[in-house]
Amino acid sequence: MKEDARSDVEHRHRDISPEIFKDHAHKAVDWIAEYLEDMSQYPVLARTRPGDLKARIPKSPPSSSEPLETIMDDFREIILPGITHWNHPRFFAYFSITSSYPGIIGEMLCSALNVNAMLWKTSPSATELEEVVTDWLRQMLGLPEQFNGVINDSASVSSLCALAAAREHTGLNIRENGLFGGNLPRLRIYTSEEAHSSIEKAAIVLGIGQRGVKKIPTDEAFRMNVKALAQSVEEDIQRGIKPICIIPTIGTTSTTSIDPVKEISDVCERYGIWLHVDAAYGGSAATIEEMRPMFTGWETADSIVVNPHKWLFTPIDCSILYCRRSEVLKQAFSLTPEYLRTTEADKVTNLMDYGVSLGRRFRALKLWMVIRALGAEGIANTIREHISYAKRLEKVIQGTPNFELLAPVPFSTIVFRFSPKPATGNIAELNTLNEKLMESVNQTGQVFLSHTKLRGKFGIRLTIGNIKTTWEDVALAWDIIQQKAKELSDLGK
Ligand code: PLP
Repeated sequence: MKEDARSDVEHRHRDISPEIFKDHAHKAVDWIAEYLEDMSQYPVLARTRPGDLKARIPKSPPSSSEPLETIMDDFREIILPGITHWNHPRFFAYFSITSSYPGIIGEMLCSALNVNAMLWKTSPSATELEEVVTDWLRQMLGLPEQFNGVINDSASVSSLCALAAAREHTGLNIRENGLFGGNLPRLRIYTSEEAHSSIEKAAIVLGIGQRGVKKIPTDEAFRMNVKALAQSVEEDIQRGIKPICIIPTIGTTSTTSIDPVKEISDVCERYGIWLHVDAAYGGSAATIEEMRPMFTGWETADSIVVNPHKWLFTPIDCSILYCRRSEVLKQAFSLTPEYLRTTEADKVTNLMDYGVSLGRRFRALKLWMVIRALGAEGIANTIREHISYAKRLEKVIQGTPNFELLAPVPFSTIVFRFSPKPATGNIAELNTLNEKLMESVNQTGQVFLSHTKLRGKFGIRLTIGNIKTTWEDVALAWDIIQQKAKELSDLGK
């Protein structure tokens, strides 16, 4: 019996009743489908100002229950205006990530089950499905069967775990002694100057420190210079510094450049250094047979990170750490208090042993649903189309006066700038002009672009990764960019 006419809570259930849940859940599903099918009423980038939402939400929680109808009204009126629509087909900023219907269903079921897959026993299906589905993806990526996958929330955590394993692999027993025991050498990690900041953050957390990360220079295509890498490693060894890991990237964040993994792998082999490949974004493209040559050498890695939540149509969060030496990863993290001891521990995988967190969401469920419902071929075809749109836009930009590409386009990200003639010759002016251009394009609400800086040059990034993006979306973005560039030029005359 409901005791408060304004409440949906049935005291018998201590929760809303199943009938009311069904009613509102069905309405929410209807809303989701309409939202995903037509986002034209929403600006891609939120138009709110700092504090707008906070000003409209009570500072204290409600003491009594409120009806779901009211909560949903507030979701539409107060929350949605402050949302930047990452699922919008013209979200071209950062790395354009997207969910998909099967992934959304997976998330719904995941929260209904609400299991914690810390131990095999605490949900055998969650553990075994994670083992199976990461192995499915391994096969889709063409990686050897020695790689075992575990799912983390982010690439930052996956790389942190990989670096902890690399540190463990040195045999310096830092896990037990910390960084204060005995006469430890200084530790060094090598990555390129284009690597993602998550590598440096992992070094901070692991006590290696920012100065323990050597950022190797890159060539004209933003790829790690292997000669400079080998020289750095050699010099460090001479000085008594211990190299623990080299991290090439396949698909760097700024330009999606691809480090020469094969040559880097040779350096790792020569000096016995752990090879961790950051393929958080680019990795998904290995589902396409003809893209595989770009991944040459990654099969020799000790660990690799690939994020299905970036370019594999799986709702955030889902990052996979593939490790060829799972026993080292386990050695780095396994710690079992009495209350988590189980009798079958030697026969099964307890996922808590392979990372930082004890509690783990059942993330494998959504990935399983995405791979089954879209199919390996369907996924590869969509990624292939994204790449073909990027190549097409690359050609268009090459043929457009007053625009220039700032980097090669190996995947689906294009970095370019507006450089009207006659050239000002002043890089700061050109940077300001391009920043203004990007902001005026984003203000239209029709598209959302982001930027990078390459050797001092402000570059506008357009990245294609949404499951619903069509060539028409890309073409519209390009029209808007040109129109805004013309307006800015006219203003400057
Ligand atoms: N590695 C690369 C190459 C990235 O581009 C990013 C983020 O864009 C990351 C790692 C970090 O990913 P996450 O947000 O999953 O931590």
